[in-house]
Amino acid sequence: MPQPRKQFGQHWLRSEKALSQIVAAAELRKSDRAEHTAQDIPQNNTLQSNIRSDRVLEIGPGTGILTHQLLSQAQSVVAVEIDRDLCERLTKKLGDIDNFLLLQGDFLSLELETLLNPFPDFQNPNKVVANIPYNITGPILEKLLGTIAHPAPTPFDLIVLLVQKEIALRLNSKAGSKHFGALSVRVQYLAECEFICDVPAKAFQPPPKVDSAVIRLRPRSLEQPAHNPAQLETLLKLGFSSKRKMLRNNLQSVIGRDRLSQLLEELGVNSQSRAEDLSVNQWVALSNKL
Ligand code: SAH
Repeated sequence: MPQPRKQFGQHWLRSEKALSQIVAAAELRKSDRAEHTAQDIPQNNTLQSNIRSDRVLEIGPGTGILTHQLLSQAQSVVAVEIDRDLCERLTKKLGDIDNFLLLQGDFLSLELETLLNPFPDFQNPNKVVANIPYNITGPILEKLLGTIAHPAPTPFDLIVLLVQKEIALRLNSKAGSKHFGALSVRVQYLAECEFICDVPAKAFQPPPKVDSAVIRLRPRSLEQPAHNPAQLETLLKLGFSSKRKMLRNNLQSVIGRDRLSQLLEELGVNSQSRAEDLSVNQWVALSNKL
């Protein structure tokens, strides 16, 4: 194992159980067309199986332990790794595999367009599966999903990430729960979020200071989206700015207290509510009523 570098958030996953839970959560499909001769399969079938096979984007392949499993179950893998030494190792280990493409660089500064059309003959990834560096979880989520005001134009079908457990709880929480916050609303607005499983700190080498969990996100559009997404973002920012305060205090610079009480009543919400008491749909409805 290479010496882990702290600045890149390197913690090598070493639990077989966690690895298989991540891979299973990604529901990967691979076409078996290579095992047939051209005559075996009618043309439209070939096309269909191609469409149904998954192309994975992996962020931070590290030593390649997860990459290896992804390669065996997906049609192809594009991996982005920032650490030059690791890239050299990975090239030696997996460089000859023709459904694997390694890009060296900072995932956050790569144009997603480049990632989605990496090279001619290489199909664009439709799923993301990764054990990411925890210090850049927020920016990674934003890059993959976009924001409420600017959702990702070509969203992935599915995203499976290993994250800090605290974040997984926030993404999976409902209004009224102590884990529900601005991040929950922002991400749940853009994607359906599921908590898949816990991953203990000892599953990594070196173990991180926090416990981890696997989450699965399915990007989607809300049935009733915000008419003015930028306004919704402002409301969330102000509403959650001071967690212990009631909404009518946090939002008083944009909505008068009486008006807000009336709007909350229309939504069937107590006028003394705090930001974390409103569901995603209620936040959208509040914004749409303004
Ligand atoms: N997937 C591996 C490694 C996880 S550790 C495993 O499960 O064992 C996180 C990985 O992300 C490291 O390899 C680290 O070098 C890489 N990384 C950190 N910051 C990155 C960035 N901005 N862009 C791409 N990769 C990054």
